[in-house]
Amino acid sequence: MIKRSEIPAIQKEAAILISRAGIVLRPEEVGQIAVADFGLSQVRVFGAQILTWVETQRYGAKVIALFPNQILPEHWHPPVGEDPGKEETIRVAWGVLYLYVEGPETVKEGFIPKGKEGMFTARHEIRMLAGDQYTFAPGAKHWFLAGKEGVVLYSFSSVVRDALDGFTDPEIVRITRIQED
Ligand code: ZN
Repeated sequence: MIKRSEIPAIQKEAAILISRAGIVLRPEEVGQIAVADFGLSQVRVFGAQILTWVETQRYGAKVIALFPNQILPEHWHPPVGEDPGKEETIRVAWGVLYLYVEGPETVKEGFIPKGKEGMFTARHEIRMLAGDQYTFAPGAKHWFLAGKEGVVLYSFSSVVRDALDGFTDPEIVRITRIQED
């Protein structure tokens, strides 16, 4: 849960990171940046700032800004009906991203959040810099850890159904609840 009054400052800070990547946002887009706390109510630790540029029944394009050391928790994109699940490519625009995928454990520069070890099972660390990109197969578990300065990435995908994403941590609620204050 996030207080509504906290959101504009988070959006502004995310917009500053995005501008460092040389990405131009229209002024009204700053207020359209979605702040996700994944229901854990510690947005600076577990969260993501996501601006959706386009989302149709077939594809989506977004820019994601993560604050320093912010974690986008482990999840996967499950099959839905005939669809094998969202296929997604990320590309780093600015900063350092530690991407974790399934495979041999290689956590080296990043870290597994303390007290949440069981919720981060994909431990194959891939350090990504601007220009690096990675495509997730449908159903593959992944999570992100931003570097010390934060990170900005593009996300291109087939149809987006965020509400149906699977998360390893049962405490997670994908749709952020906003508390009026
Ligand atoms: Zn994903």
